[in-house]
Amino acid sequence: MGNTKYIFVTGGVTSSLGKGIISASLGKLLQSRGYKVTIQKFDPYINIDPGTLNPYEHGECYVTEDGAETDLDLGHYERFLNITTSQANNVTTGRIYNNVITKEREGDYLGKTVQVIPHITDEIKNNFYSLGNNGSYDIIITEIGGSVGDIESLPFIEAMRQARWDLGPSNFLVIHLTLIPFLKAAGELKTKPTQHSVKKLLESGIQPDILVCRSDRPISTDIRKKLALFCNVPVNCVIQAQDAETIYDVPLLMRKEKLDERVLERLNLPTGNEPTLDYWKEFLGRLKNPTDDVCIGLVGKYVELYDAYKSIVESFIHAGAANECKVNVKWISSEFLDKENIDEKLNSIDGVLIAPGFGERGIEGKILAARKARENNIPFFGICLGMQCAVIEFGRNVLGYKDAASTELETNTKHPIIDLMDDQKKITKKGGTMRLGAYPCELKKGSKVASIYGKAKISERHRHRYEFNNKYLKAFEENGMKASGINPDSNLVEIVELKKHPWYIGTQFHPELRSTVTEPHPLFVSFIKAAIEYKKIREEN
Ligand code: GLN
Repeated sequence: MGNTKYIFVTGGVTSSLGKGIISASLGKLLQSRGYKVTIQKFDPYINIDPGTLNPYEHGECYVTEDGAETDLDLGHYERFLNITTSQANNVTTGRIYNNVITKEREGDYLGKTVQVIPHITDEIKNNFYSLGNNGSYDIIITEIGGSVGDIESLPFIEAMRQARWDLGPSNFLVIHLTLIPFLKAAGELKTKPTQHSVKKLLESGIQPDILVCRSDRPISTDIRKKLALFCNVPVNCVIQAQDAETIYDVPLLMRKEKLDERVLERLNLPTGNEPTLDYWKEFLGRLKNPTDDVCIGLVGKYVELYDAYKSIVESFIHAGAANECKVNVKWISSEFLDKENIDEKLNSIDGVLIAPGFGERGIEGKILAARKARENNIPFFGICLGMQCAVIEFGRNVLGYKDAASTELETNTKHPIIDLMDDQKKITKKGGTMRLGAYPCELKKGSKVASIYGKAKISERHRHRYEFNNKYLKAFEENGMKASGINPDSNLVEIVELKKHPWYIGTQFHPELRSTVTEPHPLFVSFIKAAIEYKKIREEN
């Protein structure tokens, strides 16, 4: 634990209030005052990690450098703070129980009855403190998933209560994020749900230090006073979090409400320098005053749920701001894309991005979109399954392998252009067994990607089982699809690009997991630039 200070963020009244964004925004403010900060998330569900969850259940699965499959909030932490997170930053109830049960089988608790208190809560606390153990951080923010009052988050709340005594009151702080709804019939903002939610926390022995109140309109001084009175907090610790135009406004809004100052006071930490948020403000300036706009068709099978492609959408925002360009996303369901409607669906589009994914549904629509982009010089970006579709399309329509396929979808194909490597063939378990995390990649001299990255060696994050089948590499390269990024250790193809196309790139890795406000991803920046150029040509014709 060292000298690290711990901030816990809980949520009440409803889910989806944006605990992740509030945590990331507070983290940003503290970081910009000179503190070393990280953020971790504790999720109350029983899956060991979200890797086996359908994106419809929980949105995108975010992959860290060390190959952990984690909650999408870790993406916000990385994008806001420009830090890398790891497995230790995301812990679920499932992982806690798994650890405890493993220890029990090993005899660690010999003779004892293993119970929620103290064994589960001790394990939770060990995980709360693990990132603080080597003194790397001044402040660790812990977001507790779910809402106060859920049965499943009780052990986390209890562990938090105990943590206060392990850490000492000046090293421990609780922020409760809650909703202040506006009741149309009454014509006013209502504080009662928040009062109840704070009572719920009090029942578990926790008095929140700061309330962050989400609402769709300003919270008056009277309402702040009322909340302070009923919820036992000083009035300057009632922080308003009004709905924002973009999530990237939230750090500045929290600064205006002095959330960071209140936190530092309560933790007995010097306020340090005023946060230097010049870069952030410049970014917002570019984001909000675009001189261009483009429309990107995002072809995927989970398009009903934007959270399923969270990091891609955020990467567009970063890359758009870098180009002073508004990126409009047209969501195209690959399942309903066919020869009859493709022209209409890709009409007025300045770039096509084919999204990652698993399984057969919607695959033919993706292949069709890749063909349309290739034949019409439309900027094309294929990510993971998107790259695999581009390769299959090229195999079928340029190389003439009519049944070219991925063995994920077509086990008996004569042309397994995308296939499992031997080490994957032996794997039967689903959880945490894909090629996961950061791998090195070498870029071919003179390739488009080498000029975009401006370097020869890169490292990017992966999450897939299937790979380009190198048996076919020669045929592809001779016909104009180049492998321009290769894994130096395994020789696997990590990037393909078309020679005769203004911008046609497929990556087996997920560049979207590396894009941050401070460092927008070069591939996304370049893709948006290509879309701006394509739009000019499109409009001239
Ligand atoms: N389903 C493909 C594979 O496992 C692609 C995965 C992805 O797009 N993330 O290889």
